[in-house]
Amino acid sequence: MGRYVIAVLPGDGIGPEVTAEAVRVLEAVGRRFGHTFEFHEALIGGAAIEATGSPLPPETLDRCRRSDAILLGAVGGPRWDDPTAPVRPEQGLLDLRKGLGLFANLRPVRAFPALVDATPLKRHVIQGVDLLFVRELTGGLYFGPRREAGPDGEEAYDTMHYTRPEIERVVRLAAGLARARRKKLTSVDKANVLAASRLWRRVTEAVVRREFPDVALEHVLVDAFAMHLIRRPAAFDVVVTENMFGDILTDEAAVLAGSMGMLPSASLGETPPGLFEPVHGSAPDIAGRNLANPIGAILSAALLLRHGLGLEAEAAAVERAVEAALADGYRTRDIADGEGPIVGTREMGEAIRQRI
Ligand code: NAD
Repeated sequence: MGRYVIAVLPGDGIGPEVTAEAVRVLEAVGRRFGHTFEFHEALIGGAAIEATGSPLPPETLDRCRRSDAILLGAVGGPRWDDPTAPVRPEQGLLDLRKGLGLFANLRPVRAFPALVDATPLKRHVIQGVDLLFVRELTGGLYFGPRREAGPDGEEAYDTMHYTRPEIERVVRLAAGLARARRKKLTSVDKANVLAASRLWRRVTEAVVRREFPDVALEHVLVDAFAMHLIRRPAAFDVVVTENMFGDILTDEAAVLAGSMGMLPSASLGETPPGLFEPVHGSAPDIAGRNLANPIGAILSAALLLRHGLGLEAEAAAVERAVEAALADGYRTRDIADGEGPIVGTREMGEAIRQRI
């Protein structure tokens, strides 16, 4: 029986609607398992810019640092889309990740039996998919030495830069996760061309050999992996990769789950708090209309329980409740199959809550 402090950052667009459902699910978990969750809301993104002028006010970062875990909705929207604006909502998210040292982004992708026909891939390809992406989040091509093109527009570059400790910590985290699952780790790189990838491969090999001899390690080139991911996605367990490769491959993998609205994520550092948020954005086209699928946010709450608080049974209870609600025919508009009735955000949340 624990007592946990959770920072809730609803953000913009559908963020507040879907996080409200995730919070209610956590309350139901608290009742069933005897835990107390203390929720503290704070501002981020466009909502924070409106109220304070900053997308990540110092009080928000402070509130997060004093919490056991952070649940976030989404940030951004057309109101703040002007590329010349001095502050943008997305900066709040980047600053939060940086401020908390979150170096690994986890994205589980599962094919729910009730949704296998909601994807563009064939049923036999999708069945049994249960993989976990671990993307390096603070290094690589997005953060290496760079140069913008000057006024002459002749030259610009970005650099894929990694150090051994940066690779070691993310591979160690991924291999530890593989150990608790099916003990298979796939490392994705471009070692036939890139020096940074050759270092990545060498360090990965050493960490897994030395510290995780019970985990089977394979190396796959990123171009081949992009193909395998849609040909035989059920063959993979934990996949670890560089920042940009992970950015691209996780969006490809999102297709396997049927809808953006289904996917959760976790960003972790060396120590808590971790950040837990759905993969989707603020979906301004459907915001405030009870149309959003809350499952990505609710499954993010499951990741918060598992990876943020170490509560595995509680996390599994949430995942089973989602599966049961889907099996019982509950569908939001984005995953509708033309058979059962379509429900709204609140009704889907309620259906899941009742099954905890
Ligand atoms: P989006 O993910 O918000 O929406 C893409 C499409 O998917 C839309 O048609 C939307 O209606 C639908 N969709 C998304 N989530 C859904 C859900 N839970 N249920 C049902 N349908 C859902 O991406 P976008 O339209 O490219 O971006 C909109 C805004 O969100 C932009 O300002 C962007 O910068 C921001 N964004 C934020 C994050 C984040 O907060 N992590 C991530 C991506 C985009």
